[in-house]
Amino acid sequence: MRIRSVRLDRVVIPFLEPFRIANGEVSKKEAIIVSIQTTDGVRGVGEASPMGGSFYSDETPDSTWKFLNEVLIPHVFTLPDYSPEQFAEYLNQFTHEPFARAGLEGAVWEAYAHQIGSPLYALLGGKRTDIPSGAAIGLFDTIDELLSRVEKFLHFGYRRIKIKIQPGWDIEPLRAIRNRFGNIPLMVDANASYGIDRDVSIFNEIDQFGLMMIEQPLAKESFEESAELQRRLQTPLCADESAYSFEALEKIIELRSAKIINIKVQRVGGLYNAKRMAERAMRAGMPCWLGTMPELGIASAQGLHLASHPAFQYPTDIEASDRWYREDIISPNIEVEPSGVIVLRNWGADAAKISRFSIEEKVFSA
Ligand SMILES: [Mg+2]
Repeated sequence: MRIRSVRLDRVVIPFLEPFRIANGEVSKKEAIIVSIQTTDGVRGVGEASPMGGSFYSDETPDSTWKFLNEVLIPHVFTLPDYSPEQFAEYLNQFTHEPFARAGLEGAVWEAYAHQIGSPLYALLGGKRTDIPSGAAIGLFDTIDELLSRVEKFLHFGYRRIKIKIQPGWDIEPLRAIRNRFGNIPLMVDANASYGIDRDVSIFNEIDQFGLMMIEQPLAKESFEESAELQRRLQTPLCADESAYSFEALEKIIELRSAKIINIKVQRVGGLYNAKRMAERAMRAGMPCWLGTMPELGIASAQGLHLASHPAFQYPTDIEASDRWYREDIISPNIEVEPSGVIVLRNWGADAAKISRFSIEEKVFSA
């Protein structure tokens, strides 16, 4: 396969409500939609989806746009024939801008799936077509606001509830949720906002709530401290920010810094790298789940196909389209069944919606 032309659309879509985590807040979703046509005339669409603002990652919508325009797209026109795996390996020679690489690679996977007439999940080693989904709930000012969100998402059927925590917003919300909703599948995500020595008593208290896991309590590079914390606690730790590359994953496995891994396709530069990491974690006895930041429907749909792989054993963070957006850019929308699963569908990019939300576009030819 080879790419003959690429079209980039930079889209901005407002969130239904701002998403607040320990290190910042976003109110709109920015993404770059990458539409390709191959030399055989097959189309594929991907999504490069860095978070707006720069609090979450070094890469931003601006840096991703620039890298795609100036480096990556001119480069891929020079490549010989490739499979999606070979294409991903070619892109891996660039060690930065994972979001840009993930967007282009997603388009290639989709085109390849169309070309050979296979569902994407099967190409990625997936087995199941119903993917358990969990709800992720940001920070709020009051316990009542939090509880009303938890109630709503439980009502929709989500298989687990994850709440964001930070120092000062941890024990009280957990106690309130356990009091109101009992022993529901519950986990917390600290987004690296705690210190191993400073927060000893908080960790000991959190450990009493019977949580599924504590996601990323310590700083991204705190591999050894995290291993020490895991030895002290019953609750499994989950590496998220720390699991930023294959090499970082090797460190987590070697030191036993966590028991569970959150794999994010965009952060690690695409489906191929994410799959390799998940399979490596599985071999090391560490179950994974598929996280989001969140993305729009195109990247979410592709993530769901990957989450079909047996290495992903906990519910994904990918939620229904209408959890985040009044309008998503795929058809049909992603929906959560009352049983809390998302059934894999033949999702496709909605060109009319993409052009409606597009603020900038560019077309390239080989
Ligand atoms: Mg997280």
